[in-house]
Amino acid sequence: MAVSSRANPHICIVGGGFGGLYTALYLQKYRHLKSSRITLIEPDERFVFFPMMYELITDELKQWELFPTYSSLLTGTNIQWQQDHAESVDLSQQKVIVSSGDVFIYDYLVLATGAKNRPIDLPGLNEHALTFRSYQDALTLTARLKQLVRSQTLQTQSDSIQPISVVVVGGGASGVELACKVADYLGQRGRISLVERGSQLLSNFPKGLRRQADRALKNRQVNVLIETSVLAIDADTVTLTQDETQTTRPSQLTLWAVGTQPRPWLGEQSVKQNDYGQRLTRRTLQLADDESVFVLGDSADVRGPKGKAAPNTAQAAFQAASRVAANLAAITQGKQPKPFNYLHLGDMITLGIGDAGLSSFGITLGGRLAALIRRGVYVFRMPTRHHQIKVGRRALGELFRALFRKRFKKRWFKKR
Ligand SMILES: Cc1cc2nc3c(=O)[nH]c(=O)nc-3n(C[C@H](O)[C@H](O)[C@H](O)COP(=O)(O)OP(=O)(O)OC[C@H]3O[C@@H](n4cnc5c(N)ncnc54)[C@H](O)[C@@H]3O)c2cc1C
Repeated sequence: MAVSSRANPHICIVGGGFGGLYTALYLQKYRHLKSSRITLIEPDERFVFFPMMYELITDELKQWELFPTYSSLLTGTNIQWQQDHAESVDLSQQKVIVSSGDVFIYDYLVLATGAKNRPIDLPGLNEHALTFRSYQDALTLTARLKQLVRSQTLQTQSDSIQPISVVVVGGGASGVELACKVADYLGQRGRISLVERGSQLLSNFPKGLRRQADRALKNRQVNVLIETSVLAIDADTVTLTQDETQTTRPSQLTLWAVGTQPRPWLGEQSVKQNDYGQRLTRRTLQLADDESVFVLGDSADVRGPKGKAAPNTAQAAFQAASRVAANLAAITQGKQPKPFNYLHLGDMITLGIGDAGLSSFGITLGGRLAALIRRGVYVFRMPTRHHQIKVGRRALGELFRALFRKRFKKRWFKKR
């Protein structure tokens, strides 16, 4: 279908994550789109700032910082939030049908429905393991940790205190970050293991960052088990296999940080997809099969000039959102859309309270400085200037209090 410019178009965006919400917000920059209709279809009440969701475990960040409501983020914009689930898309009639039965006729459609946990056939996985991919997951995990600490505290009256055993499965960024935060939350109470099937942790990350992660895990006495697979999960054990030897170890909490897949295509007509199930895009981020549809984020196969795929990260979705908004602005003025070029700015991971690893353009940093930079960068990545200011103000307040305490302590000791 050929795309044409339209005055006051209806732009319909499905999915309010890093791809969808940020596209909607970037569209606000274009004056000629101020009178157009922008609909954001998103079933959840709150946006999730995934990269810092781990900070909820250790109470370094508050719920309002990580999970702002869409109603608060969209105040003062011309974005209409439809709290609903898109059920299907009809490309030929340019319409989206949502769960309530409402139909949205669009001029341009942006699809950014993200990814979900990949279903894996493993005994006990669904019943006994927790995942960490949503607002609800984060609340469930923090509640479970509190409950484990409470029941251990009750044990102190009895003679032998058992450590709280936690097994984190998956040695990618999410597994490493969870292991470090949970270790810091539990301190001496916990015994944390990190299980990875491959031969090393963080296999897709630069060497320097892997070194930082090793240091942080060692400092926290996390037991790292590589070339180890999970065979089964029970209420308070996991069964592992390593070198063809099976062992069953205690696990009062098993965290599953393995495997995602793109959410399925919503269209009634089939479109070109890669083997992983992502929709194929043109360099302009328009759907290969339909120019009036843009796709971005984890559900899109986005390629650079040499055919290199952009990663499935918030960083890539965030950059693509800016390009989608610019291309929509161009098309609606009768101009040509431009290709998207992903620029890899670096990698950052949290490695516990006040600790992080950062690698950018050949420079690797770790520890407190990396944690500070990471927090600063993410404050600027949060949606809307208003939210950034609120979160930034609290971060600065904390920083000044920490500096003041340090200085005060130094002086006090000097005097004595
Ligand atoms: C715990 C965790 C930590 C992460 N840490 C980092 C990090 O440090 N750095 C980094 O760059 N990336 C990180 N990522 C990856 C990053 O969050 C994703 O790559 C990014 O969110 C992808 O953006 P998206 O818009 O494609 O999907 P999402 O942000 O997941 O948004 C998809 C949205 O679509 C909505 N949706 C789904 N189906 C429908 C439907 N049918 N109708 C309407 N709405 C629908 C969902 O509710 C959701 O809000 C992390 C991810 C997780 C889970």
